[in-house]
Amino acid sequence: MPVKTYDAIVIGSGITGGWAAKELTEKGLETLVLEAGRPIEPNKDYVEHVPVWQKKFRDMGDRNRFNREQPVQQKCGALDEVNSKFFVNDQQNPYTTAVNKPFLWIRGRQVGGRSIIWGRQSYRWSDLDFEANQREGLGVDWPIRYQDIAPWYDYVEDFAGISGQAEGLPQLPDGKFLPPMEMTCSELIVKDAIAKYFPGERMMTIGRSAVLTRPHRGRAACHYCGPCDHGCITKSYFSSLNSTLPAALATGKLTIRPHSVVHSLIYDSASRKVTGVRVIDGQSRAALEFHGRIVFLNASTLESTRILLNSTTPEFPNGLANSSGQLGHNLMDHTMGGGATGRIPGNEDKISTGRRPNGIYVPRFRNVKTKHPNFLRGYGFQGGGYRQWWERGSDLAGFGPEFKHTLTRPGPWMMDFYGFGECLPNPDNFAELDKEVKDEWGIPALKINCAWSDNERALLKDMSITAAEMLAAAGARDIMPFVEDNPPGLTIHEMGTARMGRDPKTSVLNGNNQAHDAKNLFVTDGACMASSSCVNPSLTYMALTARACDFAVASMKKGEL
Ligand SMILES: Cc1cc2nc3c(=O)[nH]c(=O)nc-3n(C[C@H](O)[C@H](O)[C@H](O)COP(=O)(O)OP(=O)(O)OC[C@H]3O[C@@H](n4cnc5c(N)ncnc54)[C@H](O)[C@@H]3O)c2cc1C
Ligand code: SF4
Repeated sequence: MPVKTYDAIVIGSGITGGWAAKELTEKGLETLVLEAGRPIEPNKDYVEHVPVWQKKFRDMGDRNRFNREQPVQQKCGALDEVNSKFFVNDQQNPYTTAVNKPFLWIRGRQVGGRSIIWGRQSYRWSDLDFEANQREGLGVDWPIRYQDIAPWYDYVEDFAGISGQAEGLPQLPDGKFLPPMEMTCSELIVKDAIAKYFPGERMMTIGRSAVLTRPHRGRAACHYCGPCDHGCITKSYFSSLNSTLPAALATGKLTIRPHSVVHSLIYDSASRKVTGVRVIDGQSRAALEFHGRIVFLNASTLESTRILLNSTTPEFPNGLANSSGQLGHNLMDHTMGGGATGRIPGNEDKISTGRRPNGIYVPRFRNVKTKHPNFLRGYGFQGGGYRQWWERGSDLAGFGPEFKHTLTRPGPWMMDFYGFGECLPNPDNFAELDKEVKDEWGIPALKINCAWSDNERALLKDMSITAAEMLAAAGARDIMPFVEDNPPGLTIHEMGTARMGRDPKTSVLNGNNQAHDAKNLFVTDGACMASSSCVNPSLTYMALTARACDFAVASMKKGEL
């Protein structure tokens, strides 16, 4: 039988794989998406409307099963009784960590990847971010600047549908927004106080979220049911399943092959190109090969790097496209968990309706206009203002019918700030192949070596102080600052390990996400990141993916690939 050669192979069908599939098929390429996980049928698999009384464990989950099969995944606050099926089985997908360096690797393995369970917060980077490495002499300089990616932010925002408020901030560029969601009354009080007491420095805006506030491209507006990380039958939030994969399928050029666990890439020394992909069938365990003219690696930051590390050849004994020796290095994740919470007196006659799937955002203000003496870079706050409800039961004194009655009434208005800080690129934070441990399909597992530096710890401390300051300015009572001790990984913004750069000697990818060592190989998930900014990263991955697809197809047409 002649071997079929696809125009393009995309590995992974999550946020970035979905975008690669859409862009490549819409540009006319016959594209094969290889996805390790199972197919998802929204009608059967989405569970956002399952009420708590229909859940066997009343939303507590089967803790014995979690401890056995998902000891790492259950650390993610979004995992619960009915959506745990969208997170990996840790027994089948093991990894190891260096001694005293915990790393929580939260993953989704199904068609759609983590786009089903993501938090949808979507922010642009600015040149404050793209120039930071060069300015401070850290890592490598980004080979691109804001103007290179700005049209692609426009492009992906226009398709995905991002709701938000334009604010004109240089450090957080505005996007092409759908109407913003409304703030609650405690949020409005705090927003006004921040504007009054920190003018020109701090401000608060509504979260910029990949959730539709009006019908958009055949998808319905959100009806505020709340638990988006359970799926969304009205397709009101952006996911591969709701948006990009249907667009790719509509071209008639897409083949999606679930249960296709990519083992490694096939490299041809003569042409210095990747010619195909080795796959273990997830169900039959058969070893298969697929061939393509170009390959997009979108298996998620660490999985893509694992595939490259496992693709050794005589030229690349330490992993494909690794002539720089940088593959696996400079692993980053945002440091999260400095903040404060407080009670906002008044407005007891008001209550919010619906479950707004979004919060507020305080854009970065440290090291924007003035230099901070204790740390580099900065952080932003997410959070929200809400009326306390049942959860205050544990704080209330009382007993009997009167106590039960109190619990049926809403409590006071509260306000939370929760910080997300930039992580510096550090070559000592790295992933390598574990020499002994293998996954369910016999593929070597990763060993992750990663720890926070003093800079990330200093950011966390500062978050708790500035959050409390803003609450105090708003007249909040019972202010409780906090600094959590979350290990790297748990923010689920892992990135780096196959960084972009100008120089093949110090980076894996060039300014178009193209491997320096194999020009028909593109890595456009978070592995490509040369620094981390402090904003949620996925919108930037989407824009980089669409941009790289455009470059790849143009290069193919010119006969360069
Ligand atoms: C609870 C939660 C909240 C989040 N909130 C936000 C947020 O608010 N904003 C934000 O920007 N980001 C957020 N993220 C992060 C976001 O989900 C990721 O950045 C994003 O999904 C990365 O896209 P990706 O395509 O690289 O990977 P994924 O979406 O994880 O997709 C990777 C795909 O590759 C497949 N795959 C892996 N290995 C192989 C293999 N060997 N062979 C074949 N296929 C493979 C996987 O099965 C998966 O389908 C959140 C994540 C979680 C879990
Ligand atoms: S809150 Fe909105 S986006 Fe989330 S699942 Fe419900 S309808 Fe979908």
